[in-house]
Amino acid sequence: MRSLILTRILPPNGSYRAAHGVEGCGASSREAAWSGVSETTQRTVTARWVVPLTSLRDSLRTKRFAALRCVRGSVTALGWQDTYKDQVKATALRKSIPICTFLVLLLPACSLFSPEPVSSSFETMGTRATLTLAGKESSKLSGAADKTKQLMQDLNAELSVYRADSAVSRLNAVAGVRPLEVPEHTRRLFELSKVYGELTSGAFDVTIGPVVDLWRPVKGQTPSLPTDDALTEALARVDFRQIQLMDGAAFLARRGMRVDLGGIGKGYAVDLAWRECRNLAVRNFMFDLGGNVRVSGESESGLAWSIAIRNPFDRSATLARIEMPDDWAVATSGQYERFIEIEGRRYGHIVDPRTGYPAAGLAGVTILAPNATMADALSTGLFVLGPKRSIPIVKKTGAEAVFIPDKQPAELWVTPGIRSKLTVLIPAKVQVLPGW
Ligand code: AMP
Ligand code: MG
Repeated sequence: MRSLILTRILPPNGSYRAAHGVEGCGASSREAAWSGVSETTQRTVTARWVVPLTSLRDSLRTKRFAALRCVRGSVTALGWQDTYKDQVKATALRKSIPICTFLVLLLPACSLFSPEPVSSSFETMGTRATLTLAGKESSKLSGAADKTKQLMQDLNAELSVYRADSAVSRLNAVAGVRPLEVPEHTRRLFELSKVYGELTSGAFDVTIGPVVDLWRPVKGQTPSLPTDDALTEALARVDFRQIQLMDGAAFLARRGMRVDLGGIGKGYAVDLAWRECRNLAVRNFMFDLGGNVRVSGESESGLAWSIAIRNPFDRSATLARIEMPDDWAVATSGQYERFIEIEGRRYGHIVDPRTGYPAAGLAGVTILAPNATMADALSTGLFVLGPKRSIPIVKKTGAEAVFIPDKQPAELWVTPGIRSKLTVLIPAKVQVLPGW
């Protein structure tokens, strides 16, 4: 077991002033993090304690309390994870306080009574899916994972633009020529895509395919900026209103139109998986498909599920944690994961249909919504629109949002409803969305 002695607790990580008057700590339902100065190296470290003590809440009111008491007493704790940035030599337990001794004794016992969540992961839709069940339902994991995996594979066979035989690819191939029968999920997704197209005044447009293609790297070619002519020509083929839906069939009304469901398909898939799990009588779970997440019920001992937002400026770090409302979903859009570098500048994969250029100004947008399709579509669309023009849409849909402007030091512009659910883990200013 490793331990770390924090001789001086630093100011509250710029973000979080914990209860009980103790500074320097951030805590969420499953995780506590704080900064301090290592006694052995005198270097600043950030440590995170992932708390496996699921019953502590009941016995000691909150885990946050438990974690803080340990920090205050500079006490080693079971369950430390050495995620601190500087390697700190393990040091022995020093000052102890009674409550911590009590905790140390209590911890193994607690974990016996509250089984940890169990999870199953698989590759699908070009990303990784993970189904996590609260420990008390662990016996249902393998059945639910098999079912959701099959669902994802079937859906991918309908939607993928990387498969020539998918329903979407076949429809794209006859754009402007004739309508084609489309399967139920594809049709439903087209309907929803049109709804989000209207809602965002075209900032979210699934017919963006021809323009997105201009910003894709081509094997063996030095990346260069698309010409104005190429952009104008591609943009002329973009308009979600030209997706015509009829009984069991769809028609892309312009030649050369190309649908790309990359901005909404994963969210829709998450909703399908979520519904399937509920039909299988699984109540307490979280389904994650490449960062599109929907939760159900609670994790352990009555705790809400919480999700992490990665730091867009340092992808190995967590920026914040959000406690999820029951049954809700979350999605994040950013340009940092997929981009093309042209003449030393990065251009991301989310394109503004008004200009044909990758949307700029934000490092990331996280949307919490009652379902994953909405969270996915809005995170992409609002990334394009920017914070100011997004406000009426956020208000209308009842979603919650976190906007991270593309400038450092990091700032989080949030909707008021999300504030109490957010724990920021790095020095960052948090403020209500300007103009809310
Ligand atoms: P996401 O990661 O959910 O924000 O989706 C990004 C993907 O959506 C891109 O890789 C494109 O396939 C697609 N996309 C890009 N720009 C748009 C847009 N303005 N509207 C809808 N989909 C888009
Ligand atoms: Mg999206």
